[in-house]
Amino acid sequence: MKAVCWMGSGKVEVQTVADPTIINPGDVILRVTRTAICGSDLHLYDGYIPSMESGDILGHEFMGTVEEVGSEVKKLKVGDRVVVPFTIACGNCFFCKKDLWSACDNSNPNARVAEQLYGYSGSALFGYSHIYGGFAGGQAQYVRVPFADVGPIKIESDIEDEKVLFLSDIYPTGYQAAENANIQPGDNVAIWGAGPVGLFAAASAHMQGAGQVFVIDRFPERLALARDYCGATVIDYSDGKSIVEALRDLTGGVGPDSCIDAVGMEAHGTDVSALYDKVELGLMLETDRPTALRQILQSARKGGTISIPGVYGGVLNKLNFGAAFGKGLTLKMGQTNMHKYLRPLLDRVEQGQIDPSFLISHRIGIQDVPGMYKIWRDKKDRVTKIVIDPF
Ligand code: NAD
Ligand code: ZN
Repeated sequence: MKAVCWMGSGKVEVQTVADPTIINPGDVILRVTRTAICGSDLHLYDGYIPSMESGDILGHEFMGTVEEVGSEVKKLKVGDRVVVPFTIACGNCFFCKKDLWSACDNSNPNARVAEQLYGYSGSALFGYSHIYGGFAGGQAQYVRVPFADVGPIKIESDIEDEKVLFLSDIYPTGYQAAENANIQPGDNVAIWGAGPVGLFAAASAHMQGAGQVFVIDRFPERLALARDYCGATVIDYSDGKSIVEALRDLTGGVGPDSCIDAVGMEAHGTDVSALYDKVELGLMLETDRPTALRQILQSARKGGTISIPGVYGGVLNKLNFGAAFGKGLTLKMGQTNMHKYLRPLLDRVEQGQIDPSFLISHRIGIQDVPGMYKIWRDKKDRVTKIVIDPF
């Protein structure tokens, strides 16, 4: 089959590789009908996530039809159409039973190693390095899906792939980001980043009762989606004005009730060398410029909540943690507990409450993926989301 392979920092190639096979009786093999490139893939592309190996298959946002089932799979049969969450969870451990699916203790065979090296471990992920289990990803024609009775959700209606594909990550991630922001009816919510995660957070903030939603970014096409599709008031940070003051002015002088960091490490599409000092903490990073997060700590109103879906790895320097203490802020963050959201969010899509395909700007074949990684990283060509048909 054809697959998109990571070949080193900044190097992605389409290669012909062996088809996946069933390894465990709980696996299925999926024929991928649609897959996508995520902002999180940029951390791999730019070489910031340790323990990638040359030839690793990328991709954690995908859906498809079941091609083959393992002997113990009960809920799926050949021909079923499914969307697969990017986190892999066993469904049975202490954490899964507490609805903390992205903390699953059974799915990641390298969890103990990760804990020793980096001080934490998460559930396994598709296409996301060996510290997350080394599972082949879904930017490919076929993919093996472990714990197939637990993660994938069956699409029984004839709704188009593009409307359900983003249940694999960015729609639940934006939704959880809004939930973690503890939005009360009428609250002011400010969101840094109008990428896919920020846009779904903005749409979800309204669904969860927000009054005004403010979205901060510098790309006009992204801000336009935030304004026109998500009903947000947008702020272009490249104007050079103070974001902290702008938000204070817009919120009666107190600052937003909730702030969402949908930016994360924010190294992409900028001069990386200016942002990062690589330090010898394993392969971890140290950055002293988490600009969005620093602005968030300054902007949030006293007693407010900060929600961080954006990915951080390693050590952050010079963060005004005293502001978090002084203002009595609540911080919530982490990998999305995907499995909790798939059913309710699929229901919303099928009921027509949201059409998640609104942010797609590019539809490409698998051969065009390597070139698109660079465009996606540099945010050129008015790119807002890339969807791939691998056949
Ligand atoms: P993206 O790169 O497309 O979007 C990020 C946006 O942030 C860009 O539009 C960029 O212009 C903007 N930005 C950069 N610096 C900024 C600043 N200082 N102020 C305001 N905006 C700024 O990525 P995405 O796909 O939307 O993902 C966003 C983040 O969410 C990434 O870190 C990604 O890894 C993470 N993510 C987390 C999870 C999770 O489970 N928690 C899941 C998916 C993605
Ligand atoms: Zn993703």
